[in-house]
Amino acid sequence: MAFDVQKIRLDFPILQRKVNGYPLVYFDNAATSQKPKIVIDSIVDYYTNYNANIHRGVHSLSQEATDAYENAREKIKNHFNATHAHEIIFTSGTTHSINMVASGFSKLLHKGDEIIVSAMEHHSNIVPWQMLCEKTGAILKVIPMNEDGNLILSEYDTLLSENTKLVFVNHVSNALGTINPIKEIIEKAHKKGAAVLIDGAQATSHFIPDFQELDVDFYVTSAHKMCGPTGVGILYGKSDWLNKLPPYQGGGEMIKEVTFEKTTYADLPHKFEAGTPNIAGGIAFGVAIDYLNLLGFNDIQSYENELLNYATEQLLEIEGLRIYGTSSEKTAVISFNIEGIHPYDIGTIVDKLGVAIRTGHHCTQPIMDFYKIPGTVRASFAFYNTKKEIDSFIEAVKKAKIMLS
Ligand SMILES: *Cc1c(COP(=O)(O)O)cnc(C)c1O
Repeated sequence: MAFDVQKIRLDFPILQRKVNGYPLVYFDNAATSQKPKIVIDSIVDYYTNYNANIHRGVHSLSQEATDAYENAREKIKNHFNATHAHEIIFTSGTTHSINMVASGFSKLLHKGDEIIVSAMEHHSNIVPWQMLCEKTGAILKVIPMNEDGNLILSEYDTLLSENTKLVFVNHVSNALGTINPIKEIIEKAHKKGAAVLIDGAQATSHFIPDFQELDVDFYVTSAHKMCGPTGVGILYGKSDWLNKLPPYQGGGEMIKEVTFEKTTYADLPHKFEAGTPNIAGGIAFGVAIDYLNLLGFNDIQSYENELLNYATEQLLEIEGLRIYGTSSEKTAVISFNIEGIHPYDIGTIVDKLGVAIRTGHHCTQPIMDFYKIPGTVRASFAFYNTKKEIDSFIEAVKKAKIMLS
């Protein structure tokens, strides 16, 4: 079946709107994706028809809401091939998930232990580890990258030692699009007895990581980058690890028994889910995953690759334009600069023409420092984008270049 992008676009109400008098060209998908109507409707449906708190009520509405929420957890477990549904912890998103793991490890790490991160991490995957090192006396080490935006794995080999307790790498770089060889990274860490957390926020909208096949210890992602709502995401952890980590927050829902002398914690996943969660968000996340699977990730990925190649070729024809992140393994993200022009100015002008792109350091200042630039212009594509939109974008960039040089 051919990938019918015009038909798919009708699922996304926002794609019909205009910005500054021009049809919206939304190329900021790495920041957040747009939402299909079926996802939006599922949120309205929850609040309209079966809004109730979950897990606590014997009444019918509470049962319905609980079933829908737990059904979403089951869907997510199946989608990523986790072993158990209770290994999927609902969180408010990637940042929250990472902080939960970092906080848990503050009880398990000691002075002199080592944590390895990569040179291309999002700030949300750097700062929590720095805070953890401050707290525990552990040492942070960094896998360097090369000019193409690939991690230098031979350097990783030399950083790994018996002192390594944790390795944190993003599956896909949000600034460069590089798809990191996480299977190899995980295998090597395990040989030294270290645990691995993968930040998949930028990966799960493009392909399906298989948690069991990867043998990953922790994997985190956000619904809003996969056509789901904001404010919900997951922390996947192997049950052995989740049982070992202390709970993150105290409160309702996460306890088995409470007295003033001692509280015993609930079993997984509730141990990590204190308080009332984002119920509608969790349910809608499940709907978003169903939607993406109906389109098919193979088709999504090959179509996005087509868009990536089409845009890359045309951009490279613009004189003075340099693309950052030229790995042969990358998602549909293009970071670039035009010689002598500030990225912010390009972003402002193309917005006037209806084109939404991102400019700046993309929460990855170390990458910008590596290339000795203040920031880049970043265009990131999704399966609902078209070649015609890329033509409008290229034309807008060319116009900006003429106005600014
Ligand atoms: C978006 C993103 C994050 C942060 O996700 P939030 O949903 O804002 O918590 C972390 N890492 C990467 C690679 C991202 O793209």
